[in-house]
Amino acid sequence: MGHRGGARLVSARPLREARVDLSAISANVELLRARIRAEHTMAVVKAGGYGHGAVPSARAAIEGGADWLGVVEIAEALALRAAGLDTPILTWLHAPDADFAPAIDAGIDIGIGSPAQLDKAAATASRAAPALVHIKVDTGLGRGGVPLAGCEALFAAAAAHERGGALRVRGLFSHLANAGDADDLAQLEAFEHASALAGAAGLTPELRHLASTAAALRMPSARFDLVRLGIGIYGLTPYDDESSVELGLRPALELSAGIVSVKRMPAGTGVSYGHRYRTTRETTLALVPLGYAEGVPRQASGVGPVSINGTTYRIAGTVAMDQFVVDVGDAAVAVGDRAVLFGDPRTGVPSADDWAAAAGTINYEIVTRLGGRIERRYTS
Ligand SMILES: *Cc1c(COP(=O)(O)O)cnc(C)c1O
Repeated sequence: MGHRGGARLVSARPLREARVDLSAISANVELLRARIRAEHTMAVVKAGGYGHGAVPSARAAIEGGADWLGVVEIAEALALRAAGLDTPILTWLHAPDADFAPAIDAGIDIGIGSPAQLDKAAATASRAAPALVHIKVDTGLGRGGVPLAGCEALFAAAAAHERGGALRVRGLFSHLANAGDADDLAQLEAFEHASALAGAAGLTPELRHLASTAAALRMPSARFDLVRLGIGIYGLTPYDDESSVELGLRPALELSAGIVSVKRMPAGTGVSYGHRYRTTRETTLALVPLGYAEGVPRQASGVGPVSINGTTYRIAGTVAMDQFVVDVGDAAVAVGDRAVLFGDPRTGVPSADDWAAAAGTINYEIVTRLGGRIERRYTS
């Protein structure tokens, strides 16, 4: 959002900025809760809140009504606790040598996907408080979790540990492959079957959960007691056939940089590595200090959209490690003007979806991969 003539305002902004609107995250959670109406809503803030910052995103999501937080690693959960968040947290992917003790001491729920993890949780807990665990069943994603064939034995062992006071099975969960309606339904049926097996083993998990954003919105039967919402709380769509705008979501993150160089160049000028772009007339080239070190996908060379002073251009040539060039023609562009790569499309800038299309990936990757020298700033 270039403010030409507003030099002081422009220079107050970081050169490379990921501006996160926390009120958008709160509003997205509110909207999703109203539409989904599950009893509990987990805000998934793994991987640094999908690039938005885990702690501020978690706080904003709680403001919007989330009553659980989800992360992958115990270290991520402990960081949320260290920041003062006392909301229930579930963590579900553990290193082989992961130490469960700090998590149990901090009241963090542990996802259990194997007999070895179950035994470790029980053994660790006997030295502290009972472990709060959610057993993860592989209903067809083929990733983590106990396969259906292993459920009876694992549930029996968990029930024995529960009777012994070492742990409490608070949850039973699984994750969908989003491989199509029929596959999702088959996974749902497998989950119901696992749930019945858990009951038969004497377990009474009060939180059964299966749905992430995609299924929570479109598959009411997958909502159970809790939904795990990631991408949607950041205002991005999980679908390729329905946009964030159509869903009524507000993308929370805007990525921009101040232009560091502007120059008039003659026709025939080769631009960036490999000269994959060449000017066809005298023109103005603007240099944007964001590259693949910042997570700008090199695959978007020549096609990634960039908005400068209200006009959207395509990247000229190759995205380098630290920078790329935009051919702005005869537009009046000055050093310090902002180049906006993506943000809320309702403000006229490209979306993370546009970048995903340009790079041949998904919006999840576009926001989560941001790093390097980008500074995050928060507004609310
Ligand atoms: C990342 C993740 C989610 C969130 O998925 P979204 O599609 O971002 O809503 C939910 N559950 C599990 C197990 C996850 O790993």
